[in-house]
This record gives sequence, C-alpha cells and structure tokens, in this order.
Amino acid sequence: MADHKTLIKGGTVMTLDERDGAFGSTFTGDVLIENGRIALVAARINAPDAELVEASDCLVMPGLIDTHRHVWQTALRGVTHDETLKGYMREIRFLRARVYRPEDIRTGNYVGMLEAINAGITAVWDFSHCVNSPAHADAALDGLIDAGARAVFGYGFNEVPLDVPPFKRFEDRLADLQRVAATRFPVTGGLVTLGVATSDLPICGIERLAAEIRAARELGLPISVHSNTWEFPERDPEVALMDRHGLLGPDLLFVHSNLSSDEEIKRIADTGGWISSTPETEMQMSMGPSVIGRFSRLGGRPTFGCDIISNNSGDLLAQARLGLQTERMLECAQSLGRKHGHEDLTLRTADMLRAMTVNAAAALGLADRVGTLTKGKDADLILVRLDDINTMPLHDAGATLLLHAHPGNVDSVFVAGRCLKRHGRLVADMARARRLIMESHEHVNAAIARDRSTLPPGYKAA
Ligand SMILES: [Zn+2]
Repeated sequence: MADHKTLIKGGTVMTLDERDGAFGSTFTGDVLIENGRIALVAARINAPDAELVEASDCLVMPGLIDTHRHVWQTALRGVTHDETLKGYMREIRFLRARVYRPEDIRTGNYVGMLEAINAGITAVWDFSHCVNSPAHADAALDGLIDAGARAVFGYGFNEVPLDVPPFKRFEDRLADLQRVAATRFPVTGGLVTLGVATSDLPICGIERLAAEIRAARELGLPISVHSNTWEFPERDPEVALMDRHGLLGPDLLFVHSNLSSDEEIKRIADTGGWISSTPETEMQMSMGPSVIGRFSRLGGRPTFGCDIISNNSGDLLAQARLGLQTERMLECAQSLGRKHGHEDLTLRTADMLRAMTVNAAAALGLADRVGTLTKGKDADLILVRLDDINTMPLHDAGATLLLHAHPGNVDSVFVAGRCLKRHGRLVADMARARRLIMESHEHVNAAIARDRSTLPPGYKAA
C-alpha cells in the first residue's frame, strides 16, 4: 500500500464519529485514503494524484462489524433451517464438526469471510469452535487471512466429540494456543488477531471455564463466551456464577445472554463487558427475546452477530433490523389493552448504527483503529448504493441502510485501504471459491452419511 492514495468523491458521507455533531447525520463530501489510513474527511478534497472512486450516488460509511460468527460453518449453509437448539447441537456440533478436515475449516473461513465482505462487513469476531487439531487451527487462520478482511480468530477450546482426539488433555490444547500465539502472531498490528473462544459453561463446568479465561488473560487475549442460551434442564445463573469466581471484565464478549437476569446483565455492563446479540438464531432456537433493549437500559453497549450460516444469512443489517423491531414489539406490547397507541419508541435506528460500528469496534478492542470515518484511523469503509430500486429516494441515510438495504446494495468495500469489493462484485476468484466450497460440502455430506450411526451417546439422530 506504500504511497497509494484513493479519493472517494462526492458521496453521502456518514462518519458515525460522535464528535461530528448529530450522530448518524450525513453531508456530501470526500474521503481521502492514504497508505491504508483515512487521511482526510471533508466537503471537498483536492488530490489529483489519487485513484478516483466516484461515489455521488452512494452512502459512504464505516464498514460493518460482526461480533459473533462461526465462520467455519459456511459449507453447512441452511442445514439447520428447521432445527431447534438441540437439533443444531446434534447436527452441527456433535455430528458435522467430527468430520471437518483442516481444509474444510480453511475453506469455510475463506469463503465465509468473502460472504461477509460482500455484505459490507469489514471485521468479524470468528468464534472458531471446531479446532480439532493443531492443523485445524493453522488452516482456520489461513482461511481468514486469505480473504483479506479484519478478524479476531477466536481459538476454540470446545471439545468436539472425536473418536481419537489429538488433544488428550486441557494442557495439550493450552500448549497449542501458546504455539499459535508465538508462531502465527509474532508481532501485533495485523488484520487478523488472536482471541479465545471458550467452551460452553453448562458442558465444561466452571473450573474448566475459569482455566480457559485465565489462560487467555495470561496471553492478553480477548475472550468470547456463549452465555445463558438454554434452560434445559433449567436456567442456570451462568453470569452470576462467573461473577462469583471473579471472571467478569472488559475483555469478555458474552454471546446471546437472553436468559440472563437483569442483575447479571447489569454486572456485565458495570464490569465493562460486551454482549453480541444474534436475533435470528435466538428467535428460532428458543433462547428468548434479544437482550439489546435490556442491555442498553442497564448501561451496556450492544453489538450484533450473524452467528451460524448453517442456519441463517450472513447479513448483519438483517440481524440489527430483527433486533430493533423485536424490541419495539415488546415495548409496544406493554401498551396493548390500554385503549391508546404506543407513542414513543425508545430504541432508535441510530442505536443500531452504533451497535454495528462504534460499539462493535470497541468490543473487538479496535476502537482507536476502526468503527468511524475519522482522520488517522484505518480505512475500513463501505459504499452502499442509494440509487437502487430499494434505496431511492434518500430521506434518512441510517434508516435506508438499516431498514431497506441488503448486501446486494453494497457497491464497494475497503479494508485498511485495500479494495475487496468494487462495482457490486467481490475482488476475488469466485470460480476458486465455488470449487473449494463445493468440494468441502461434498466431503462433509459423504462423511456424515458414514458417521451418523456413530453419534456420541445421547445424541442419536432421529
Ligand atoms: Zn455462537
């Protein structure tokens, strides 16, 4: 990127920088990218030596950030479309995860990140819980890096029920995390960084979870944990239990937490923790309403994730839209039967814009590098067409983006100044991507046909 300049010209610019006055407001202007960074945002910039990107019919804004996705599952698209959480656990976590080869996780991550880029997502917290061997860990990383976007590779501690597990003891997996940290991340500052995706508390128990969190903290790594996602056989106060063990903190990104109590949600907020809400999977899989409203009211800053492509789309706008409108439904329902309509909506579209950009950047530990169009930050930004049939005319850019736009309206995507989508098409070898994902899809299908009869006890398929 040395000395490369790009001038994005005449766009409807939305910086999402709180210091720019009304949050989410727009102006017609230019953005200058220089050596991967935002060099200037202004009404008019003169840079004759820059590569010109005409943006007069586009919204120009920070890239969207997905704080919870199991990117490895891309080849499993739609497998669990009619499944509950129990069905998902059986079909994906206890069945298909067993037959994943290193090349499957590499392909899933590569193609999955291309899918994210296509949807205007420039960074993902990848909760990688199919690290069945050291080779799986390396392949997962390779796939993320190849796609070119920003990601936290959440090294998964979850144990997939393998017949001959390469990791025999917790210490083996811990040693592999340390190997990955030492050999794959010798210097900081790259687009892909390392984190820890913990085991699920109801499965692993608090002692193991505490050991995983301590290990992550010794390496200074961000941590993500699923919490309060199910109530069988009964709802456990998982966050409260973690709190009693002194585990809460600002490096913890909780996922779902729908069934956490208000007290638990407040403790997450008070300790500087984060929550990723994934409304589409949560609604299907009986986890209860999204926590975004409660978390906001109790002082937290919510974020969104797409979670599992094995179930739903990788469209982050759809997640935020579902989360917002579900919260509004719950709020308005309180007025039903009172013979008057509900008059004020508490949660606003601007709150969702924050969740997908500013909040999510902070949750990834990247608040000083991405999340807003601000001079000096890395140039992670997107152009969204405002002249498509479903995006014209323009009344409010945030509303158009959140409630009307879809990945097909994303015209261009830049990550650290590098163009990864242009004129509505990915800058990638799509024939190769398709060949890879089809090969993985066919392997998994053939392997589970053989493997289905050897499911772990208690998870016999119907
Ligand atoms: Zn998840």
